[in-house]
Amino acid sequence: MKKIYESTRNRNQKADATKAILQGLSDDGGLFVVRDIEQCSYDITKLKDKDYSTIAEEILALFFDDFSKEEIKDCVQQAYLGKFEKDEITPIIPLHDAYVLELFRGPTSAFKDVGLQMLSQLTSSALYKTKADYDVLILTATSGDTGKAALEGFKDVEHTKIIVFYPNDGVSKVQETQMKTQTGKNLKVCAINGNFDDAQTAIKQLFVDQEFKATLAKQNIKLSSANSINIGRLVPQIVYYVYAYACLLKQGVIEVGEEVNFIVPTGNFGDILAGYFAKQIGLPIHKLVCASNDNHVLYDFIQTGIYDRRRDFLKTISPSMDILISSNLERLLYYASGCDNAYVKQLMEDLSNKGYYQVTDDVLKTIQKDFACGYATNAETENTIKAVYELDRYVLDPHTAVAYKVLLDDKDQEHKNIVLSTASPYKFTDSVYSALYGKVEDDEFSLMKKLHQKTNVKIPKNLENIDRLEIVHEDTIEKEDMKKYVLDKVKEI
Ligand SMILES: *Cc1c(COP(=O)(O)O)cnc(C)c1O
Repeated sequence: MKKIYESTRNRNQKADATKAILQGLSDDGGLFVVRDIEQCSYDITKLKDKDYSTIAEEILALFFDDFSKEEIKDCVQQAYLGKFEKDEITPIIPLHDAYVLELFRGPTSAFKDVGLQMLSQLTSSALYKTKADYDVLILTATSGDTGKAALEGFKDVEHTKIIVFYPNDGVSKVQETQMKTQTGKNLKVCAINGNFDDAQTAIKQLFVDQEFKATLAKQNIKLSSANSINIGRLVPQIVYYVYAYACLLKQGVIEVGEEVNFIVPTGNFGDILAGYFAKQIGLPIHKLVCASNDNHVLYDFIQTGIYDRRRDFLKTISPSMDILISSNLERLLYYASGCDNAYVKQLMEDLSNKGYYQVTDDVLKTIQKDFACGYATNAETENTIKAVYELDRYVLDPHTAVAYKVLLDDKDQEHKNIVLSTASPYKFTDSVYSALYGKVEDDEFSLMKKLHQKTNVKIPKNLENIDRLEIVHEDTIEKEDMKKYVLDKVKEI
């Protein structure tokens, strides 16, 4: 039976997988979900003998059953083969207190490569399958890593165009340089004077702006999104949870059926939601631990059931998690409320009208069964980078360090703990270097070399000579002007 996706906010807004991937967001502003997710059940008993690609093919086939086996196999090969530093794709490293699952070995050194390399392949394949006579325009807001990973995923992919907006002064120097030097004929990169939430909110509005969409339609262009609200990006992320489990089975560290914990540095709630999906389809997970930084709106929510975005937006040393509106949480609300679309719609209206919502005690209890939470301040994050380096000679990036700190705060000794590592430390060299050796005034590029000399950790290839690449994108605009920018620039790409 073919899987039907529906909007979190309206059961009658339906799509098959192909449409859900091409469209990104439902017309009513809701997110696409499969109602009977338990029916996507995955057999974990034979995991021991499976490699990353095999697991990826099986998981994708479960959720995207309107793609043929060959199409999926092809997508997996195109997305991952030869594009990652290691054949394992996401290696798992044992440290004293936890296993670190390295998700950052892809072409831009961020975990977002895992989802976005696949999303571009799925998009391309879906366009081909449906014999589409239009181009897809990907609009993306980025807090740093998504932008580069999406650009790299979609660059020069036929019948796609991509425009990326990032908050001026809201991303690291390395991230900014990665984006400003992006090559490719079908793309634009633009800074906005505002924060990530401003950019994300503006893009969400464009997706429900019928006049805007009609203008694009006249040029044979349809909108889509590469943010983690796209199901085509989320599902590939389920794979590494299953793969991590397979690795521990292979190493004889756990037995089939034994529950493990995953500790996840969280922003938009995409990464951790993929873990929740993994659990729904049968992976034995005890707790998914949601780790926040000083913007701990999710921590507060999981503690109290009140989601309140009316607070100051703080800039931290883990900027990819500096988020106050966590889009993918909507999908969890949908499942935790027993697939109650009207209830989710009401909560989202409360959030947009009043700035907060409160879930019922039942929904909160359901969420707390699967999720634990914690947070780390900047100082705690820095101390953790230093402590783990001293103990294990392993260099954490600040996002991963947030998760590691949350693990150490309340370590569950009864289960194996797996910390998801979401970026190479070299993407945030400034913060990492100063945590290890104290603040220095060098630029980030010479610091990379210094960090390498001192720690002997290899600099990823794509970052090694980045300061010598040509800057090709220099646009900066006000946040109010994003719509105009898109309409102007889409003609050039
Ligand atoms: C995007 C990102 C996160 C947060 O992931 P979500 O899916 O938004 O929760 C964490 N760490 C890094 C380095 C990221 O780029």
